[in-house]
Amino acid sequence: MTDHVLTLNAGSSSLKIGLFTAAAEPEVRATGAVERIGGAAALTLEDGAGATLGTRDLGEGGADHAGALDAALAMLREHFPEAGIAAVGHRVVHGGQDHDAPVRLDDAVLARLAELEPFAPLHQPHNLAGVRAARAAFPEAVQVACFDTAFHRHHPFVNDVFGLPRELYDRGVRRYGFHGLSYDYIAGELARAHPALHAGRVAVAHLGNGASICGMVQGRSVASTMGFTALDGLPMGTRVGQLDPGVVLHLIEQEGMSAAEVTGMLYKRSGLLGLSGISNDMRTLEASDDPRADEAIAYFTFRIRREIGAMAAAMEGLDGIVFTGGIGENSARVRREVCAPMSWLGVALDAAANEAGAARIDAGGDVGVLVIPTDEERVIARAAAAALG
Ligand code: ADP
Repeated sequence: MTDHVLTLNAGSSSLKIGLFTAAAEPEVRATGAVERIGGAAALTLEDGAGATLGTRDLGEGGADHAGALDAALAMLREHFPEAGIAAVGHRVVHGGQDHDAPVRLDDAVLARLAELEPFAPLHQPHNLAGVRAARAAFPEAVQVACFDTAFHRHHPFVNDVFGLPRELYDRGVRRYGFHGLSYDYIAGELARAHPALHAGRVAVAHLGNGASICGMVQGRSVASTMGFTALDGLPMGTRVGQLDPGVVLHLIEQEGMSAAEVTGMLYKRSGLLGLSGISNDMRTLEASDDPRADEAIAYFTFRIRREIGAMAAAMEGLDGIVFTGGIGENSARVRREVCAPMSWLGVALDAAANEAGAARIDAGGDVGVLVIPTDEERVIARAAAAALG
């Protein structure tokens, strides 16, 4: 029976899959992940409650993306032999200027999305490789692309543009914004459980390995800290965040670095890792007594505060802050260090609720502060199920 949808999230060295029922509100049956593709790749599969169904070592260098998908599908079929796949939903990082919603994939759409590869060279080619592999594996299924950029496509001009010569804007050099699937999910949760905040002005901080803030007014994005690429805005695990472009020129012209070397530095060796010299992982930094770890966390939380202030200006006020992503959902310290110096904006934390990881952590001030676990896979599954009509 073709009564299920599959979600696929292909990153540079990882592949995440999800098996959901094909309902308007899909039920998760299983989630799986292949980590370290190209290296010592390993597959794990869990059921909907998070219990491990299986693990498999794919061997050193033993799997590329197609091999990883094959292995994950084989394990899925073993555990869910009855589940037919009616639709596959794909995370695709870049939808360009055209797409403000999920789209059914055909050859023409796929060709246009491939033209965007230079805009997101570290992600888009892998996303589209996943699409091609899934089309081959499920030729009868509906294939749907869900874009990280789509949620941000209706920014006002001033939040969509750089102060560059106009022809670059016309050629697509714009502030696209990313993490849109996460923000879409959070907007839905606000509408469902916090309608007053949904109707207001909320800064949503998605803090994971990648990190950004979205200014949301009445559930719609009006600004993002991420720009043309997912490098801009907040410092991240290994990415630099906002940077004077003069630094890039200096590195190339004075320090003799190649473009590839600068790219590697800005994407892979900066942010929390670069500043601390210890780790990109917040748990490791919080556990460290090295002062450089404290300084890296202090810079991270300061920049989050600065950008929340900027979002308040962009939204002409602030009614709420939402923390999400691995750090936002789990680090009481980061939430505390972000919020404590923002009393001037009407932000007051309930310290005990914050430490306990409660869903609502404000002390009843002007600004509601929430912790909402995100679920990007569910947003993809909903779109895939919706495409079935
Ligand atoms: P990705 O962006 O790759 O999806 P996640 O959203 O899973 O990443 O976030 C990963 C980050 O969350 C890591 O820096 C990790 O240390 C951090 N994190 C996870 N759990 C905790 C915790 N209990 N305390 C502090 N940080 C945490």
